[in-house]
Amino acid sequence: MNQADSQRLASALEQLGLHSVDRPHDADVIVLNSCVVRQSAEDKVVGNLTSMKPLKTNRPDRVLALMGCKVGAKTDDLAKQFPYVDVFMRPQQYGPLLDLVGQRLGVDWEGCVGSLAATHPDVTCYVPIIHGCDLMCSFCIIPYRRGRQVSRPLGEVVQEVELLVRRGVKEVTVLGQTVDAYGHDLPEQPDLADLLALLNDIKGLERIRFLTSHPSYMSQRIIQAVADLPKVCEHINLPVQAGDDQVLERMRRPYTQGQYRELIHQIRETIPGVSLSTDVIVGFPGETEAQYQRSLELISELRFDKVHTAAYSQRPETIAFRTMDDDVSQEEKARRLKELDLVQENILREKNETLVGQQVEVLIEGRKKGKWQGRTRSDKLVFFPDSGAGMGSLVDVLVEKASPWSLQGSVAAGNTDQRTTPSPVTAEALRR
Ligand code: SF4
Repeated sequence: MNQADSQRLASALEQLGLHSVDRPHDADVIVLNSCVVRQSAEDKVVGNLTSMKPLKTNRPDRVLALMGCKVGAKTDDLAKQFPYVDVFMRPQQYGPLLDLVGQRLGVDWEGCVGSLAATHPDVTCYVPIIHGCDLMCSFCIIPYRRGRQVSRPLGEVVQEVELLVRRGVKEVTVLGQTVDAYGHDLPEQPDLADLLALLNDIKGLERIRFLTSHPSYMSQRIIQAVADLPKVCEHINLPVQAGDDQVLERMRRPYTQGQYRELIHQIRETIPGVSLSTDVIVGFPGETEAQYQRSLELISELRFDKVHTAAYSQRPETIAFRTMDDDVSQEEKARRLKELDLVQENILREKNETLVGQQVEVLIEGRKKGKWQGRTRSDKLVFFPDSGAGMGSLVDVLVEKASPWSLQGSVAAGNTDQRTTPSPVTAEALRR
């Protein structure tokens, strides 16, 4: 979500005539977009902000802005701690910086800035469709920083994706903290399935993904849409967070591990070959060894294609911070994390090895260390030496090697079937 926010602000600044530079030293305007989901992320933000102080001291006319989840409703304390920061902006509140830049340029930015869609997008692009979250999980700071759930109207999202496709985008990932709750707050109450169906009809768009879902909102209608709509990739991220019912209750996750298992079963029944990923927190306040073992069992049994693991990190303001003791030691959290990661690594190794010798469809996204790279519909990263096709093309790759984290192969013989060629980005397209 932060990446998408940064792209949208960059788009607004570009429409005001600014362009990006490679080093902060060369910039007139520096924006630090912050994440505080865990203490380590927040520490990084503070470190970066501190290291930027000389840049401001050396050139006081340079604008330094802090954006994102580090900025809460009140900024007095932040302003005291970082007096050299000119502008503080909550997530997606671009106005204060645009006001300042507009003043410096002597223009009314509201008259100059149109769609915030990325001006120079990559082949794949994030599109936020629902902001905020209404759920208040006890460990999570996001609702305090991003506010209540607000969906963007269907038509606005469709128009933005059409624009991105004209600018060369082949794959969009529609985003939300609880993306499967999309539309519930809109007057006609469309849902994510309705939006996916409309996006599926956009000519030139090849693939659609959505991120991140919440088990409570994952309806059979959405699952069926993933199964039926050819452009929607068969990949669902469905965070479970814990495998024990008491821990889930203290986390304020409104489902049991049994209901979650049933949902996974239902998804796998409806979408053959679906790839599933999840998120798990270890060391939540009060989590006993036996409760942690239930998370381990769930991960071992459900065999996900990716598990994002994290050790519990106290976040001020949250319900867990206010009402629970962070009583699992750091060493124990690290041990549980390591063990869980190892179990998942072995699952991934076994799963990915079954792909060796098979052909997978890959969307070419770029080059890294002399190789082409892209992802399968199931979101596996694939590297291959020669593409025989350009960025944004779909190619079939024969998988020759697999590791837990990626696949390696070569473009399948006779694969001249480049189902798409990237549309040239024209000046006219950029103006649109
Ligand atoms: S659903 Fe996600 S964003 Fe919302 S409170 Fe829970 S963890 Fe945070």
